[in-house]
Amino acid sequence: MAEELKQNESMNFIHAFVTEDIAEGGRYAGQTVHTRFPPEPNGYLHIGHCKALIIDFGTAEKFGGLCNLRMDDTNPTKEDVEFVEAIKEDIHWLGFDWGDRFYYGSDYFEKDYEYAVELIKKGLAYVCELTPEQFKEFRGDLNTPAVSPYRDRPIEESLDLFARMRAGEFEDNKYTLRAKIDLTSGNFNMRDPVIYRIRHMHHHRQGDKWCIYPMYDFAHPIQDALEGITHSLCSLEFENHRPLYNWVVENVSVPHHPRQIEFARLGIDHTVLSKRKLRNLVENGYVSGWDDPRMPTLCGLRRRGYTPASIRNFCDRVGVAKSPNTIPYAFLEFCLREDLNETAQRVMAVLKPIKLTITNYPEDKVETFEVENNPNRPEDGTREVSFSRTLWIEEDDFLAEPIPKYKRLYPDGPECRLKGAYLIKCTGYVTDDDGNITEVLATYDPDSRGGDPADGRKVKGATIHWVDAKTCVDAEVRQYDNLFDDPDPDAAGKDYLACLNPKSLEVLTNCKVEASLADAQAPASYQFMRLGYFCPDSKDSEPGHLVFNRAVSLKDSYKP
Ligand code: ATP
Ligand code: MG
Repeated sequence: MAEELKQNESMNFIHAFVTEDIAEGGRYAGQTVHTRFPPEPNGYLHIGHCKALIIDFGTAEKFGGLCNLRMDDTNPTKEDVEFVEAIKEDIHWLGFDWGDRFYYGSDYFEKDYEYAVELIKKGLAYVCELTPEQFKEFRGDLNTPAVSPYRDRPIEESLDLFARMRAGEFEDNKYTLRAKIDLTSGNFNMRDPVIYRIRHMHHHRQGDKWCIYPMYDFAHPIQDALEGITHSLCSLEFENHRPLYNWVVENVSVPHHPRQIEFARLGIDHTVLSKRKLRNLVENGYVSGWDDPRMPTLCGLRRRGYTPASIRNFCDRVGVAKSPNTIPYAFLEFCLREDLNETAQRVMAVLKPIKLTITNYPEDKVETFEVENNPNRPEDGTREVSFSRTLWIEEDDFLAEPIPKYKRLYPDGPECRLKGAYLIKCTGYVTDDDGNITEVLATYDPDSRGGDPADGRKVKGATIHWVDAKTCVDAEVRQYDNLFDDPDPDAAGKDYLACLNPKSLEVLTNCKVEASLADAQAPASYQFMRLGYFCPDSKDSEPGHLVFNRAVSLKDSYKP
């Protein structure tokens, strides 16, 4: 796995094929490389689609070519305008652009029809009247060829029936149009596949113009060919459809002959990458929407705090393999951490606060410390952080009774450093009537401004983060864990709903963040020191009611 993840671009077999094809003597010598991304607008894009996007747009980019965006709305059942706009937004967010080459598969319905008629005229297609049940029954098996009783229907008769199918004379499934290829083929896709069927259905763009619809395997190669696509890159499940793809472009009079190349789909553990399953999670309320920050959708990842760079980087490093593989979700997190470590502003926030009073600090005094926004990037400047007698610290940075090796605050414990401010020593604590600890007491060393002792003595305790109670802002923080407990909820036959992690969301409502975050807005990313990377929630956060999502924890147990 480690080696695979380090696999670099130069090993990309698709690029190798393309290089061959455009070289002198190659099948596209002297032509511009032209690819397309053909999503079906029946859901939001997920991280699996990113891989396809990076292959489609990235290959075009690499060879100075073009990449079209084409909504594959051939199938009239499920398309939705909401999805079309969301898909465009997600692709732009990732940093890819299709220019003015935005198409719909359904725009070619008239052409599809003409090419179907051409096939009939050439004796390469015929109208069949087997019922769907009979069709299955007559398909044969590996040792038995298919049977097709209508195969020799005269051309004139097929032409007449096909025109009447289009005119709406027949009910659904009464007839189909089949390509006449090879009833004995070992590849069942070639056993006279259906290329048109009758469906009296409304189409979201074509309205009620059509009641016959082309099958994907017929429509897709035609769409590619008409757009001048050179390389039609798709996932592995289309591999044994390739002979049919080639048959179509070779037998209808399209102006170009694209080449289909397949690559393995991306799988990630602890999640599902099927639009049908993701849609089910949304529609049945298992998540708050397609953009729930636990979803592997691009809009979910974006809301969670993922950056385009981290996702592109992830896909690049996963590489383009020919064999299916499942990548650890932790590797995606690793790529995000790596990016945010460079770019995110460092701030202080306390998620589970307890009050700390510095008893020898003047009551009304407030001082400010100038701190660097990001030690990795001096160009990001500095800001002022206020400090006063009462602070908030994390509950677990204090213990009334220390446990072995505990180096944080406890009565008469070691001197600790308040990050960037002063050295303190815990002197005691206050409890309420029920014995709950309500306040930690400490004294500070006024000669340690900035956090270092004037006399150079060794500080034995830990460095802890804090926020000034006088100026801090309240916030809600949402911490996420894997949406699925089970590493492989997407496995065939598994009840993925039973694999959901009941603890995938933890909401903390009483958090305190430093004053500089009062106007924080997505898509800013912050490192809450010692805690992780967080970003304001793009939907629910507003000044006066801050909500942060934990994009990823700081802990870095994953080694690629
Ligand atoms: P789903 O099963 O999630 O509905 P799909 O393949 O039907 O996926 P499309 O909208 O048709 O979704 O996909 C558009 C393109 O994205 C296709 O070329 C498809 O091969 C590719 N794609 C989809 N899922 C993945 C994945 N997990 N890894 C790589 N490519 C993918
Ligand atoms: Mg599809």
